[in-house]
Amino acid sequence: MENKWVVSKFGGSSVKDAVSMLRCSQIIENNSLTKIVVISATQNTTNQLEFVARAASVGDIDGNNDTLQKIIQEIIQKHISIAIELFTSPAVLNDLEALCGELKAIGETISINQDFTPKIMDELYSLGERMSSLLMADLLRLRIPNKTIHFLDARKIIKTNSDFQKAEPQIEVIAKNTALEILPHLNENSIYVTQGFIGSDLLGNTTTLGREGSDYSAALFGEAIGASLIEIWTDVPGVASCDPREIDKVNYIKELSYDEATALATLGAKILFPTTLLPAKRKKIPVFVGSSLNPRLGGTTITDKQHTGFSLKAVSQILKKDLIIISFIGTHLDELENLATSLQNDLGESHFEFYDQTEVSISFKVATFKMDKKESLLRAHEVLSKFFV
Ligand code: ADP
Ligand code: ASP
Ligand code: MG
Repeated sequence: MENKWVVSKFGGSSVKDAVSMLRCSQIIENNSLTKIVVISATQNTTNQLEFVARAASVGDIDGNNDTLQKIIQEIIQKHISIAIELFTSPAVLNDLEALCGELKAIGETISINQDFTPKIMDELYSLGERMSSLLMADLLRLRIPNKTIHFLDARKIIKTNSDFQKAEPQIEVIAKNTALEILPHLNENSIYVTQGFIGSDLLGNTTTLGREGSDYSAALFGEAIGASLIEIWTDVPGVASCDPREIDKVNYIKELSYDEATALATLGAKILFPTTLLPAKRKKIPVFVGSSLNPRLGGTTITDKQHTGFSLKAVSQILKKDLIIISFIGTHLDELENLATSLQNDLGESHFEFYDQTEVSISFKVATFKMDKKESLLRAHEVLSKFFV
């Protein structure tokens, strides 16, 4: 079943503070088709929660763990400050305080056990998304008063196996839950705000889909409601020819196929969680990637449309043990004998050696003693730029 509704996911950098959250609320307000809003933890919070677990597990049991107390206070303060700046309602402030209480309690449990299991880690991780989504739901109530904003606990819908920290979603159960809990209430006047990254197993234990997994959550929700579009709002205007943090002059790609985007994500580009495109591809739902900082810049649209001839779009890098693997993404790359020749001419034969090839990628391994990580990516991107379609 397909309908006109849109699922919109906002990453950690998009909700990092009150001003950023306001920007997201504007994007949501501007598109009346947006029905499910998937929120990540505020920037760096998930890392801080990992730090809580580590600090708690090495500290002393009697609560005199300064490092632990300091990091817990930082997390609490960050969220309370955003809540105050956003004029969060007293009821939601109470809910937020309850989550802060849970955070302290999990810290204590880990301190007592002097250890943490993947299971308790997922409970701890979940607090990041549960806090940020609570704030966003309340902000939307303030900003879009003519709509009913439902706060949805993703763990009621996103059922997974019990493989904590890398849980596998149970697609049929998710579809059933969505049909019962969400679909009957989806209409012009409703918006659901929920969490990325988290789910629960069939016993009700909290699970997570893997670090950076909120993109995947958005796609799972999109698949379950048969959305017409899944939007991934981040801090860059789309998928680029290379990581813009590594290279100054990148080319933002207008169109990518599901397979190309999956290859890119799997072969090292951090822009999307690798399995994100699978639910979208199953239901042929387009995925848009754009910048919440400046939506007017447009972004990348990912569909099943694929070039029938040669096209070269992006380069990515992955480190495997002591190997640097550089991959070029595009179609009919085997026709591109020039690429290998060009790489060898430019860089010297011994630098890049063929490693692997798929329908939408060709990978080379780099002789690390000749070039480091940054240099190899730079040089590969330079070579790539000659071949842009
Ligand atoms: P979010 O918090 O929104 O999930 P991420 O940090 O997970 O954001 O992903 C966005 C980041 O991905 C960008 O800031 C960029 O540095 C990085 N990135 C890596 N490779 C690419 C690429 N090929 N195109 C765009 N961004 C990329
Ligand atoms: N908050 C989680 C993480 O940082 C999930 C996500 O943001 O995608 O890994
Ligand atoms: Mg991400």
